[in-house]
Amino acid sequence: MPVQRLVPTQEAADLLELTRELAREELAPRVAQAEAEEQFPREVFRTLGKAGLLGLPYAEELGGGGQPYEVYLQVLEEIAAVWASVGVGVSVHGLSCFGLATAGTREQQERWLPEMLGGELLGAYCLSEPHAGSDPAAMRTKAVRDGDAYVITGEKAWTTHGGQADFYKVMVRTSEHRSRGISCFLVPGDAAGLSADPAERKMGLTGSTTALMRFEGVRVDADRRLGAEGEGLPIALSGLDAGRLGIAAVAVGLAQGALDDALAYAKERETFGVPIIDHQGLAFLLADMAAGTETARAMTLHAARLKDAGLPYSRQASIAKLVATDNAMKVTTDAVQVLGGYGYTRDFPVERYMREAKVMQIFEGTNQIQRLVVSRALAKGVPAQTAVLA
Ligand SMILES: Cc1cc2nc3c(=O)[nH]c(=O)nc-3n(C[C@H](O)[C@H](O)[C@H](O)COP(=O)(O)OP(=O)(O)OC[C@H]3O[C@@H](n4cnc5c(N)ncnc54)[C@H](O)[C@@H]3O)c2cc1C
Repeated sequence: MPVQRLVPTQEAADLLELTRELAREELAPRVAQAEAEEQFPREVFRTLGKAGLLGLPYAEELGGGGQPYEVYLQVLEEIAAVWASVGVGVSVHGLSCFGLATAGTREQQERWLPEMLGGELLGAYCLSEPHAGSDPAAMRTKAVRDGDAYVITGEKAWTTHGGQADFYKVMVRTSEHRSRGISCFLVPGDAAGLSADPAERKMGLTGSTTALMRFEGVRVDADRRLGAEGEGLPIALSGLDAGRLGIAAVAVGLAQGALDDALAYAKERETFGVPIIDHQGLAFLLADMAAGTETARAMTLHAARLKDAGLPYSRQASIAKLVATDNAMKVTTDAVQVLGGYGYTRDFPVERYMREAKVMQIFEGTNQIQRLVVSRALAKGVPAQTAVLA
């Protein structure tokens, strides 16, 4: 079922059409094999980069697409509806450019951003450590100043694109102060002393490489530090607000893909002499899947529009991530139910969707952490605002 969309410009509508075409022609024919063989589709990212889809929400003068976040997220959703691992990769790449785009000096931005946003280079970001996921301020990886450089030593866990990326946005400790002792660096993928462990063997999202990165005395020029010393955690956290919306959009796309497959099957498969969609008990399952997915999309785009208007959106981003990923888990599970026994086999993609949905409740801040963000904002009493557009 085509998704009804409201976009702000004809340019955005054309962009979405281009995305659907690319998804149909470049992504759909490859996804099943790449996921089954656990192959990272590096060439797909080059294709998306050439089409201008890897830097959409960033300024045009820096090599980005100059699109509002609400348009970028809808593009992301269309990609994820066909291939979740690639949707996650686009979101992660965007997040790895965020520190430079928001906290870098003009000189740093002009030096590196055009290639990063133009899709030549693929990015990754390293915040989590083996013992520090939900609590990133507990990180131990250190950068020690040595003349005009820093020397980084430690481990970063769970890096999406670990070992595949051309650059890594890395948060490391430059002093012992828990939250103001963390700094942010842009580390080239070929830096001496930087290596990736063998990829994690995951339950799903198998086309996306996830690996622990080792920093063994990695020397990084001081001009690769983004923002001042000690500003790394705020840079990482503000990036996460935007990144959470990316994951929310990916989850909406995944749920939409599962709903589309379940709906098509329900119109074909017959029991008791009629298509199963004619059994009200099953049709209501589909109705709930549609209701949840459209609600998740609306919440995600609401948060994006607040961001586009320059208003606070952190609480709404957490709500969107929570609602959209919980919905994706439910919808993909129900899609398996709609397909009955066939849904439980690897002959149909719905079992894969269900495995892919699970991780979305875990990364970019677990859904318990999203509840923490929302409940703290409620306790603080963030004031309601009414913004008038135009
Ligand atoms: C496939 C994949 C890709 C990833 N990609 C990246 C990446 O590119 N870069 C990166 O930096 N990280 C990445 N991560 C890491 C991810 O962000 C962390 O796994 C996540 O933040 C959770 O951290 P943890 O695994 O250490 O769990 P823990 O923090 O140990 O949490 C364990 C459980 O306790 C709960 N919990 C913890 N604290 C609280 C609390 N205060 N209140 C209530 N419940 C709590 C959690 O919700 C969770 O259920 C990725 C993870 C995966 C699985």
